[in-house]
Amino acid sequence: MTTAKARAVDGPDKPFRVAEIKRRDLDLHDILIEIKYAGICHSDIHTAHGEWGAVNYPLVPGHEIAGVVTDVGAEVTKYKVGDRVGVGCMVDSCGKCDNCIKGEEQYCLKGNVPTYAGVDKYGEPTQGGYSTHIVVTEDFVVRIPDNIELDVAAPLLCAGITTYSPLNHWGAGPGKKVAVVGLGGLGHMAVKIAHAMGAEVTVLSQTLNKKEDGLQFGADNYYATSDSETFNKLAGTFDLIINTVSAKIDISAYLSLLTLDGTLVNVGAPAEPLAVNVFSLIGHRRSFAGSMIGGIRETQEMLEFCAKHNIAPNIEIISADQIDEAYERVLASDVKYRFVIDISTM
Ligand code: NAP
Ligand code: ZN
Ligand code: ZN
Repeated sequence: MTTAKARAVDGPDKPFRVAEIKRRDLDLHDILIEIKYAGICHSDIHTAHGEWGAVNYPLVPGHEIAGVVTDVGAEVTKYKVGDRVGVGCMVDSCGKCDNCIKGEEQYCLKGNVPTYAGVDKYGEPTQGGYSTHIVVTEDFVVRIPDNIELDVAAPLLCAGITTYSPLNHWGAGPGKKVAVVGLGGLGHMAVKIAHAMGAEVTVLSQTLNKKEDGLQFGADNYYATSDSETFNKLAGTFDLIINTVSAKIDISAYLSLLTLDGTLVNVGAPAEPLAVNVFSLIGHRRSFAGSMIGGIRETQEMLEFCAKHNIAPNIEIISADQIDEAYERVLASDVKYRFVIDISTM
């Protein structure tokens, strides 16, 4: 058993506090990781605040984990002590269902085991990356390419894969017009990745405040959604829209921006339902879809893609004492563009 230092939250309105958590003894295929950096995803905030349903507190969030292997179980073959590794939003799945066999473990028919706020196969609650150590079965660990530093690697494990997967699945590439709604953690990764895939990229942000950044990330166009003229001008334009917004928006207005056979993929996960006016779908044979993170194989592929194209998130490194403040700033859309906790400050 390893005792890890962590930051935990005890309820929806409670601040983070210092905590100690136990990490299990290594099973045959387990890996012990010393965590170096953990990103703050908006999903951590939805969960910590209990917005997605009841949570068993105390909760240690964090599913953008980058660190170094410090011990391995007796039958581990994929990793050795000293390897630079990452863990994302899930730490296990059944491994046997049709979706697991396809390598889409995030859609495991028995339900994947989330990195935090879940229950593992030993019946223990899972606790995430705002901690010094984690134990994970080797099949749910990915290798961080040598030319990606650990601090910028962390956000790739959720923000990176969550945007790479739908861009890849719906064929973002040369000749495709892709719009990204919301320039936050996920949004700025979507812009960088879609640009690297060769698509023409447009950012749809609430204001023009971050326009210079968006263009520098690789966007070709940038519009403010607070300007209703934007919706008139761009009607029927996009092949693919990735909506990363964490709040309820008028999704029908965005559907009207799709071209014939275009698809709007929701990766943003607000607690409230989004109302769809079906006329915005049937008019141009449009599709409204969703996508959840990505499988382990695709996560490794995304890391290699980012390494090849020199893609890294823009991060602001914070200490463990600044988590509450960072949450406030994410909620105010005041994040450029991902907070990453330096775990040495735990
Ligand atoms: P984030 O950094 O807070 O970014 C969200 C962005 O949405 C903001 O920066 C802002 O962009 C825009 N926004 C926020 N409130 C808005 C409002 N009321 N109206 C219009 N736009 C608004 O969050 P994130 O970490 O990227 O996560 C985004 C969402 O994706 C969250 O709901 C999260 O839970 C979800 N998520 C889903 C998956 C998945 O597997 N599907 C994985 C990870 C995260 P502008 O300032 O540019 O307008
Ligand atoms: Zn996340
Ligand atoms: Zn399964």
